[in-house]
Amino acid sequence: MPKRSHRPALCTPSRWTSGERRPRALAALRLSCVTSVTTSPSRQRSVIQLSAEKLGFTLIAEASDLGVSARQTSPFERPSLSSWLRQPHEYEVVIWSHVDRAVRSVAHMAELIAWGREHTRTLVFGMPEDDHPLVVTPQADGSTIRRCMDLAHDAEREARTISARLSSSHEALRATGRYGGGLIPFGYQKAPHPSGSGWCLTPDPETAAVVRMIVEHVHAGQSLITIARELNDSDVLVPRDCHAQRQGRPTGGLRHGRDFERFQWTSGTLSKVLRSPSLMGHRTHGGKTVRDATGAPVLIGQPLLSDEEFQALQHALDARSNGTRQPRSRTTALLTGVAHCSGCYGRMYFAARKGYPYGDYMCRATARAEVCPAPAGMRSDWLEAYTVDRYRAATATDTAVSRELLLDSGVRVIVAKGRCGGGPARLAGPDTSRLTFTLDERIGARQNS
Ligand SMILES: [Zn+2]
Repeated sequence: MPKRSHRPALCTPSRWTSGERRPRALAALRLSCVTSVTTSPSRQRSVIQLSAEKLGFTLIAEASDLGVSARQTSPFERPSLSSWLRQPHEYEVVIWSHVDRAVRSVAHMAELIAWGREHTRTLVFGMPEDDHPLVVTPQADGSTIRRCMDLAHDAEREARTISARLSSSHEALRATGRYGGGLIPFGYQKAPHPSGSGWCLTPDPETAAVVRMIVEHVHAGQSLITIARELNDSDVLVPRDCHAQRQGRPTGGLRHGRDFERFQWTSGTLSKVLRSPSLMGHRTHGGKTVRDATGAPVLIGQPLLSDEEFQALQHALDARSNGTRQPRSRTTALLTGVAHCSGCYGRMYFAARKGYPYGDYMCRATARAEVCPAPAGMRSDWLEAYTVDRYRAATATDTAVSRELLLDSGVRVIVAKGRCGGGPARLAGPDTSRLTFTLDERIGARQNS
């Protein structure tokens, strides 16, 4: 704790900016579940820091209550925060990142506001979604107080919904679906079904915290590539590795002919997690919600995100891909999944060339947050013509060639990086010495038989 000082409290906004000393602020953090990988406390911390900077406060200390439920304890009962609230002369302001980090009840909010008035201390809630911290000075007017109470009411209702879902066995039976086996969606864990027979899924404290953190980052405007890089840097396991580890199997494995100790997060992995309705507790098939006879979603367990949160996330992702990237071509390019880069054995993807009838297939290692030692690229019309010719020659057919046919036949084309420069011969067609065509004999034979 900092040394005590007995300077008078500053509490009116005009004095915060003109005063000779910046008001001292206490950062208050809270999380119900402590996990090893979550960065949620650091997320709260950064929102608090941002608010302090915006408002001209100096953070002097942090009250951190991790593993503490707001529903069961008032701010005055939490181990760390309570002792600070008993010593209000140490600071002038208390900052939380969100209202629900402070309270999950209207009564507790009323207690907090009364405490602020009594000790002439200011309460701040970061509210990163609104861009404006909510500031409650001891002289706060009725509309500010009402806003606080409304937000506390929302947080209380949210807590009650979660709790009702857990405690009422009838409700739980109806709301809790069944888990029939198969890959457990990321963010969940297997748990005994409340009925006493069989299994359901419940949010897994560790990975659910990762999902929530990712969602927060998306709403904060971070790109999926940046988020993927951060996850890789902080050694967070991808869903597949996470599953393997829990099954007691080794992480990593073979991919594109290369052995990986563990797999990396990519924008693709992230998108798959974030777009899956399993986040709402839905059973999915092929990435889509499975519905019962009445059209209602079949549930696998308690949802990790509410329907509203999931929709808000989808909007954020949609807005992202429309705003900063070219719209995806509606049809998948012929050689997606067929053409691979010889430098990294990763898939090559079609990229359009503006003003040209053809584009290029390119190594996309950077999109996977990897570095390719020899990224390959080739004109799409050349590579497609080459592949179709070789396929027809290999199968002695003259059929129309689709992407599905190529994939079903186990066709793979490996493209090596071209030499720099190159003479006029370069314009004549593909340098086939750069290309390796293979066809899985077993699959090919099965197709023909
Ligand atoms: Zn490559």
